[in-house]
Amino acid sequence: MKRKQTKSQVKKRKVKLYMPKTEEEWEGKLNMEQFKVLRQKETEMPFSGKLLYNKEKGVYVCIACGNKIFSSEAKFESRTGWPSFYDSIKNSVKLEDDYSLPLKRVEVKCAKCNSHLGHVFDDGPKDKTGKRYCINNIALDFKRSKN
Ligand SMILES: [Zn+2]
Repeated sequence: MKRKQTKSQVKKRKVKLYMPKTEEEWEGKLNMEQFKVLRQKETEMPFSGKLLYNKEKGVYVCIACGNKIFSSEAKFESRTGWPSFYDSIKNSVKLEDDYSLPLKRVEVKCAKCNSHLGHVFDDGPKDKTGKRYCINNIALDFKRSKN
């Protein structure tokens, strides 16, 4: 009996972890706004998302694959209009140089599904890491901690 349960759990997990391979598949998985930001690297309008004002304790995950990206502990108010964090969860993101604007920026991507999340800048809180992860609200989902 116990073994059977484990088996079905494994099966469920596999489906959940299924990752689109092509951009067409991503388009089917995400809604249009999410697709534009996560897969086409667009930036959402500032002050457009509700997670900006979220002060609850928990973890911010990649909306596309559920990868845990930021702890609520690392969130701070940057007054930029986008959710901002001074640190990411270890090994959760990949950083890549972005030359799409005249001023070089560093892109933040989900390490698991390669989706675009936002950019990281060096003007974060000096008493912490000095980094400011400027993240599109639409690229994140929030999981409230249970306690
Ligand atoms: Zn992801």
